[in-house]
Amino acid sequence: MKYWSYLIAKGLVAIAILSALERGIAWAFPPVKAFAEGGPNPVMRYFSYISCMLVFSLIACALGWLILWDQKYRCRTCLRKLRMPIQKGSWNHVLLGAPRTEYICPYGHGTLMVADLQITGRQKADWQPHQDMWKELSSLEDLKK
Ligand SMILES: [Zn+2]
Repeated sequence: MKYWSYLIAKGLVAIAILSALERGIAWAFPPVKAFAEGGPNPVMRYFSYISCMLVFSLIACALGWLILWDQKYRCRTCLRKLRMPIQKGSWNHVLLGAPRTEYICPYGHGTLMVADLQITGRQKADWQPHQDMWKELSSLEDLKK
């Protein structure tokens, strides 16, 4: 729940930023008189407006991509950035163990496995939550006894 709330909050902040930018663009390009009535040349005005809207749409796409990319590499429990990437698998033995990168939460909440090789289409990252690591350690101690 916390994970999705954080994503929605980032989306709302992005919408606020983009709406402020859009208001700035609307302020910079107010409605003008038609060219026949003595207004500015519409070709240059439309060119600069369309160029501005192109940059605006690129900024909007980049912001959305950054939000999703940042969210992908966050812990599903505590929202901290996942750390310690480890390369697993092999590029030489793709069928036996495809190459992938594993990230772990610094507080041990889980592991994210991201496939490095996408032969059969886009593969979603796999999140594996961990149990309480102190319970696991105590169970290992119990096994030794
Ligand atoms: Zn965590």
